[in-house]
Amino acid sequence: MTLLFSPSTVSLPVVGTADRFPVRRVYCVGRNYVDHVREMKEGDERDDPFFFQKPADAIVEDGARVPYPPRTEDFQFEGELVVAIGAEGVDVPAGRALELVLGYAAGIDLTRRDRQRDCRERQISWEAGKAFDASAPCGPITRGADVGEAGLTLSVNGEVRQRTRTGLMIWNVAEIITHLSADYRLMPGDLVYTGTPAGVGAVGPGDVVRVDIDGLEPLSVTITESGSHETD
Ligand code: MN
Repeated sequence: MTLLFSPSTVSLPVVGTADRFPVRRVYCVGRNYVDHVREMKEGDERDDPFFFQKPADAIVEDGARVPYPPRTEDFQFEGELVVAIGAEGVDVPAGRALELVLGYAAGIDLTRRDRQRDCRERQISWEAGKAFDASAPCGPITRGADVGEAGLTLSVNGEVRQRTRTGLMIWNVAEIITHLSADYRLMPGDLVYTGTPAGVGAVGPGDVVRVDIDGLEPLSVTITESGSHETD
């Protein structure tokens, strides 16, 4: 048996080691900070968490050049804490959820906001707004079961645009894993983007978008003209 072509394998560096974390699936939490729920004027902060996915090959690493995506005029950043899953789990109780965690990274949930809004108005899936090429920048993974109460900032060209603390998440990491593992079998290699605070906004070619989270390696990507996709 011969594979017709080499499968693409996306992986992320693990801080302090030569190991790399092979990415299996990318889950994202919608609406997990009250201030962002309010700025988007959608949903209610008391709603259950909901999830969407991005393709694994939407992951790009720290230092990447991210091409401005096609068919949008409102390309936005969302700075987020990313959880790296290192063990299998189904219906995981919150008290055991952190046992599944291999580590954490800084991430950006890049969004074609105009397309997302259009999807919402037409009551169709969010994929066009969320699951496009290079839409999931993710920094190196720092091992550890709990990131604690960490400060998170996202800056564009050095100017802080989003600032929060992970303790302000509506659903904490353990609760996210409990909800997510009720719908899906979590497996090593899964990543979970945990939602963004207020302050989301648009970027364009030339902009440098950086996320800093206490205790983790920073993530920085540069937006380039469309059609110049490079991942390393
Ligand atoms: Mn998001």
